[in-house]
Order: sequence, then C-alpha cells, then structure tokens
Amino acid sequence: MSDKNINNKSVSIYDEANNLTLEDLYASFERPVSGNKSDPSIKKEISIEECLYDKMYICPICGNNFKSRNIRKGKVRFIDNELDLKPIYEPIQPDYYDVVLCNKCGYTAISSKFDKLTSSQESLIEKNITPKFFPKEYPPVYTVDIAIERYKLALINAIVKKGRSGEKAYICLKLAWFYRDKNDLENEVMYLKAAHKGFNDAFVNERFPICGLEENTLLYIIAAIGSRIGKIDDSLRILSRLIVKRGLNTRLKNKISDLRDILKKIKN
Ligand SMILES: [Zn+2]
Repeated sequence: MSDKNINNKSVSIYDEANNLTLEDLYASFERPVSGNKSDPSIKKEISIEECLYDKMYICPICGNNFKSRNIRKGKVRFIDNELDLKPIYEPIQPDYYDVVLCNKCGYTAISSKFDKLTSSQESLIEKNITPKFFPKEYPPVYTVDIAIERYKLALINAIVKKGRSGEKAYICLKLAWFYRDKNDLENEVMYLKAAHKGFNDAFVNERFPICGLEENTLLYIIAAIGSRIGKIDDSLRILSRLIVKRGLNTRLKNKISDLRDILKKIKN
C-alpha cells in the first residue's frame, strides 16, 4: 500500500483492506528481525443470540456513541485449542466479534486497543481512513466473511496509524485462523507468514504482554506458526528452549511437547 494509494480518494477503504499483499504487511512492520470445516459461527443447539449483546462505545476520533456486538463470556463453551492455540468454541466463535468499528468515521480496532490512540494516530486515521470510509450495516450474527472484512479494516487502520508490530501480527494471526475456517490455505499461509514476521519483531522490540500474550505463549505461537510455514528447524529450536523453562502451565507444556513430537516425526 503506497502513500499514493492512501491519498487516492476514489479507492474505498474496504477495497484497500481487501487488497493488502504480503509485501504491504511486511513493509508495515517497524524493525524487521534477522481443516475442512463449515462456518462455525452458525450452530443450532444453543441460541446464538443468547451469547451476544450490544456494548456501548464512544469513538475516540469523532465522538460518535454507538453499539458493537459483544460476547457474553459465560454463555460460550470452550471446546479445545488447535496446535497454534486457535480456540474452538460452541456455539459461536468469540474472535469473530473482537473488532470495534465506528460506523461514522471508519475508525476500527481490536477491542483492547480501541481506546488507546495517541493524538498523532488520531489525525492519521482522520486523514487516511475517514475520507475513504462509507457506513455499512452488518447483520446481528457475523459469518466468517464478515469477521474477515472487519479484521481487515482493523488491520488497515493499524497500518495507517503506524501501530506496533505486535498488534498487526495479532490481527494477521486471527485472519489466518478465519481463512482456516474457510479452508482457504493460500490466504491462511499469507497471514501466518505476516503474523510470524510481526511477532518476531514484537518479541524483540515490545513489552509483554503483547495483545494479552505472555512471553512463553508468544514464543510457542511463533514456533507453531513457523511449523506451518516451513520453518521446522527454527520451530524445533524454540520448542527445545521453551520446554525446559520453569513455571510453564500444564496446558502449554503439553502443547509444546505435542508439537515437538510432531515436528521430530516430520524431520525423520
Ligand atoms: Zn468515529
């Protein structure tokens, strides 16, 4: 995404967000360091509406008061984590709802970052997002495609506001997971590569927790992502270092050991 694109008002922010390439994502990181499933948002046994409510937000850019869909944590049921900690819930995926979007000015972020803007970031959003934004109504229950669109808007906002690598990598990881839900390997791998690069950068340059991830968990995620994008040796090195660390919780320790066993088998 060049500056020329940012200033071209005929291109909508939706198009721009949808056309991000791996090169754009790589370029956006600050200091580079040397299943086949149906849409899981729609399940019938438990009422999906029961799991959702509208939470009020005030936009830090334009002052708009608005509602955003939110998860009632007590209503969703955790089933399991995949190897890279992608969580599976019933009857609805909470991650699909973790982006807050102001439908007046277009400012969009993951919920934990929505209020955290510097004044220079505010003006970057006003200048580069709002002129290209047009309001859009979403249905009360989000499909995986809606989640992808909203996260891409959060990603392009994070790039425009010159957000930290950790935040962008976190959004890229979620996008990779959503493409996995769609069985779209090409896009999954593109976003995994971006997440891998961004998390490596964040690991060196940012303070923990990074988007809620502690150091050991982030290292594990870097190894798990690496194992899916062909960096088996790097991943094994990280896992060997991790497994001897003290204070690991049992669940993470089991994941480390499972992944290490799988990767060793692949190598032999
Ligand atoms: Zn706004």
